[in-house]
Amino acid sequence: MTAEIIIIGTGFFGTTVAQQLAEAGRKVAVIEKRSHIGGNSYSEIDTETGIEIHKYGSHIFHTSNEMTWEYINRFTEFNDYRHTVWTTYQSRPYSMPINLNTINTFYNTNLAPHEIPAFIAKEIAKEKIHSPRNLEEKAITLIGRPLYEAFIKGYTIKQWEKDPTELSPDIITRLPVRHNYNNRYFNDKHEGIPLNGYGKLFERMLDHQNIEVRLNTDYFDIKNALGDIPTVYTGPIDRFFNFKYGHLDWRTIDFDRRVHFIPDYQGCSVMNYADDSIPYTRIHEFKHYHPERPQTDSTVLFKEFSRIAKQSDEPYYPVNTQRNTNLLEQYSEEPPHQKNVFFGGRLGEYRYLDMDTTIERALEISKQMINEHA
Ligand code: FAD
Ligand code: UDP
Repeated sequence: MTAEIIIIGTGFFGTTVAQQLAEAGRKVAVIEKRSHIGGNSYSEIDTETGIEIHKYGSHIFHTSNEMTWEYINRFTEFNDYRHTVWTTYQSRPYSMPINLNTINTFYNTNLAPHEIPAFIAKEIAKEKIHSPRNLEEKAITLIGRPLYEAFIKGYTIKQWEKDPTELSPDIITRLPVRHNYNNRYFNDKHEGIPLNGYGKLFERMLDHQNIEVRLNTDYFDIKNALGDIPTVYTGPIDRFFNFKYGHLDWRTIDFDRRVHFIPDYQGCSVMNYADDSIPYTRIHEFKHYHPERPQTDSTVLFKEFSRIAKQSDEPYYPVNTQRNTNLLEQYSEEPPHQKNVFFGGRLGEYRYLDMDTTIERALEISKQMINEHA
């Protein structure tokens, strides 16, 4: 291998760093243990139906960062898709995130936007929570207990297998609460799905004479042979240190794939299931992400089941609890075994990063690396 820098992982972090360093004239080798590039954001055509599927669950690109938007648009055009989500609670569909429609349907009222603050404030006041210490308390201070118990509690228990009182309040602040009928899931300025899919986007990003990609290769199988070469590591941080302080908790996902020979199964790309008694968290129907493509008579769905990751499972979500925060601190203070190891991305930093923030951070670290080695 003639590379000057090794990058572990071809998700948005590793791919962006590889692209930037290659463009700056560095020879880069990218090591990926899976049989394809793209990490968890990867998409490909489903051979049975011809529909583009997001292999690791729905991925909608959204950002308000102009630099990130400009950067990613060098490699793909986006369609005009705007994400909306519904949630089923006790067999009835509601808007998600919680908005005026959710509130009026749930309470069987016809409140106007200006009446919502007082209405919700009354619910919140019943609980007397002043400084929320966990996800449950935070949610109650945002929407009151009845809405929390209907739409958040069951879903959160399924998603994290923890009581919401054990989880960080940050998780729930990802979701807006709206006092109008706006049912868009994201507030960002730019949003869409890559016109030709994420798979093609990653191919274009890595298509450079200075980049060599090696698939089906686990870094830990070849690490010793690599010697002391600058490395960007985007795998799980605890694995890098051979779990010396213990295992961080990760959530993984199982998908149950179904094909139905009807043009539309659920009328939207994501339907959440709020009841704890339904074992899956949501159903993805991928054809809705590309309304601009020719329509098909069949449709492909993924039912999503969340569970604790065993060591042999793919880690998807870091779990934001005090135990993991403490453990992460220990790993972060550990000097890397070899000089010149940079940790990045959702697994390398153990942070709940979206695609746009992952790219933003990768652009920063690339700039640093290019300047340091200029
Ligand atoms: P990853 O994409 O996880 O890539 C890491 C790569 O490293 C993987 O390919 C892995 O195989 C490889 N690797 C790990 N260890 C090794 C090793 N030892 N040797 C070789 N290779 C290794 N973000 C959004 O902005 N919008 C969304 O709608 C959205 N939806 C999501 C839905 C789900 C279900 C999940 C889990 C995440 C979602 N995200 C979304 C977040 C998005 O997936 C991440 O921001 C993005 O994948 C982070 O990229 P990454 O490069 O850090 O990690
Ligand atoms: N959430 C919920 N009900 C829903 C959707 C989300 O309680 O219908 C909570 C849940 O705790 C989840 C968090 O909000 O983990 C963040 O949701 P998001 O859709 O952003 O999660 P992701 O798409 O990253 O899985």
